[in-house]
Amino acid sequence: MQSASPTYSLPVLLYHRIVNKQSIIGKHKVYVWEKDFEKQMQYLKDNGYQTITFYDLQKEPKMDLYKKVMITFDDGYLDNYELLFPILKKHGFKAIIYLVTRIDHNAWGVKEGEPRINMMSAAQVKEMSDYGVEMGGHTQHHVDLLRHNATEQLSEIKGSKEDVEKLTGKPAISFAYPFGGINEDIKQITKEAGFTYAVSTNTGPKEFGKDWFQIRRIEVTPKTNMLSFKNKVSGRYFTLLS
Ligand SMILES: [Zn+2]
Repeated sequence: MQSASPTYSLPVLLYHRIVNKQSIIGKHKVYVWEKDFEKQMQYLKDNGYQTITFYDLQKEPKMDLYKKVMITFDDGYLDNYELLFPILKKHGFKAIIYLVTRIDHNAWGVKEGEPRINMMSAAQVKEMSDYGVEMGGHTQHHVDLLRHNATEQLSEIKGSKEDVEKLTGKPAISFAYPFGGINEDIKQITKEAGFTYAVSTNTGPKEFGKDWFQIRRIEVTPKTNMLSFKNKVSGRYFTLLS
């Protein structure tokens, strides 16, 4: 079996929503079509990829990252339960969902003209967690942490950790910064709040594991075709494009 090269980076994919109706897509393009997502997961399955979570990494920090991938979904939309969950179960795959815990829809998006999209219920979150989907924090109200003071930052971050743990009955170990809003102080506060890992958007070191509080992700959008998807999960994506 081929092992990971020193420049190999674990692909951490970033998704938000899965849709199958034109009417609910919104203008910010933070979705993928269900059919496209199915093709992407089929590709991973056919090519022997394993999907891992931060729980797996915590248990086995030195695991070989070759043909491993993390699938992350931000916000915790209802479609994650309705459309993502069946596809995960079909392939025996895991994912990580970053939950906004104190609002029941995308209030921040609605303000900007996005359609209203509901979040999952507590029972749905619990069911996915019990199956093996990791639930992480994403603040309580989807705030841009850069616009808040340290007290508010700690309250939003730590509060989301406690909320997620109440929902799942498991420790919440990873966090996603809303809007990718991040600086060194925010990273420190996330650590103090008790998280072990935190993911950003397209910022942070290109090598996986260099900074556990700014883990770079690769976004998958409706424009991502199969060739581009293959590059994204190859683990050579960053070095190829940099
Ligand atoms: Zn978000």
